[in-house]
Amino acid sequence: MSFSSLGLSEPILRAVAARGYTDPTPVQAGAIPAVLAGRDVWASAQTGSGKTAAFALPILQRLSARPRDRGRFARTLVLVPTRELADQVGESFRLHSRWLPVTLKILTVYGGVSINPQMIALGGGTDILVATPGRLLDLMAHNAVSLAEVECLVLDEADRLLDLGFAKEVGRLLSALPAQRQTLLFSATFPPAVFELAAQLLQDPVRIDLPAAPATAPDIQQRAIEVDPGRRTQLLRHLIETHGWTRVLVFVATTYATEHVAEKLRRAGLAAAAMNGDLSQGARTQALADFKESKLRVLVATDLAARGLDIALLPAVVNYDLPRSANDYIHRIGRTGRAGESGVAVSFISADSHAHFRLIEKRHKLTLTREQIPGFEPMEV
Ligand code: AMP
Repeated sequence: MSFSSLGLSEPILRAVAARGYTDPTPVQAGAIPAVLAGRDVWASAQTGSGKTAAFALPILQRLSARPRDRGRFARTLVLVPTRELADQVGESFRLHSRWLPVTLKILTVYGGVSINPQMIALGGGTDILVATPGRLLDLMAHNAVSLAEVECLVLDEADRLLDLGFAKEVGRLLSALPAQRQTLLFSATFPPAVFELAAQLLQDPVRIDLPAAPATAPDIQQRAIEVDPGRRTQLLRHLIETHGWTRVLVFVATTYATEHVAEKLRRAGLAAAAMNGDLSQGARTQALADFKESKLRVLVATDLAARGLDIALLPAVVNYDLPRSANDYIHRIGRTGRAGESGVAVSFISADSHAHFRLIEKRHKLTLTREQIPGFEPMEV
């Protein structure tokens, strides 16, 4: 199987060769001819399967066949769950469009950055719009873009889109799309919610089912760090900075502590917020949305408030205060390392919580090495 046998045009083949791809991956071999033929696609594809090029190449080829109409329209919409993925997908479109005879406009929009440049960039419409759902809705509310003429919709990593709690946003976006369009859905897994979405959106799709990758056990590294209680906030900052954690969920024992610790972190220049049961539902939803969109880097929560938080891609959980029960320990650390990602769970141990942590370890048959971080060695023993 070669790329040239898939029906790709010369400029696209040239771009593929320039990237050093010799043979199509299975998802590319399945999706490219189907997309070129205008069919809907239902693909189970993991990150690393080559799924981005599987939709980017044929979409570029189709778009380059006809110029864009005037107006604030997006011709192709790629919905992605995260800004990192948005950048990656935008980059793939750009790299592969280099030798096309026409210049296609490719825009990437996501939250957490100023909206104005995105609004300006959308002037005159775009051929390809790669977007996270929340920011796209904001842009639509500002009349910066219309989805009424979308020819092709791609849902990339649909399971993560729903995992990150974007179901409502996705629903609102879908209702702004024309019924007559091509839809491509890529997802690593098909839990019931994604299955339903696929069944609802796709018309007579070409199904690409690759053998599922072996289920990976959640890969969570557990660490126990000794520190004096009065230096925990500083140590937390140190860890966030040295490890470059993009998002951290920090557990504390009381509602008061959520506010207090969040305030100390904010004063130190970190985007942090409290999550506790005293906050209004609106404030909680906002904090969570900000956290998911990476406007917040640290969420400081009690066990109770953290229940029901579903956050994929959480690199780190910190037990600033140890949980009261051993069960809560497992519940807390299970917040990281979801969906096959790796994560780290750090517990702060002080002189008066040593014994309690030993009990937690015993319950879960764990023995963690007690670490000390240079500069934060405990004085109290
Ligand atoms: P993706 O699954 O789209 O995130 O792609 C995973 C990685 O595989 C990316 O670094 C791509 O550049 C690379 N890749 C995609 N298609 C091919 C191919 N046919 N041959 C070799 N590498 C590829």
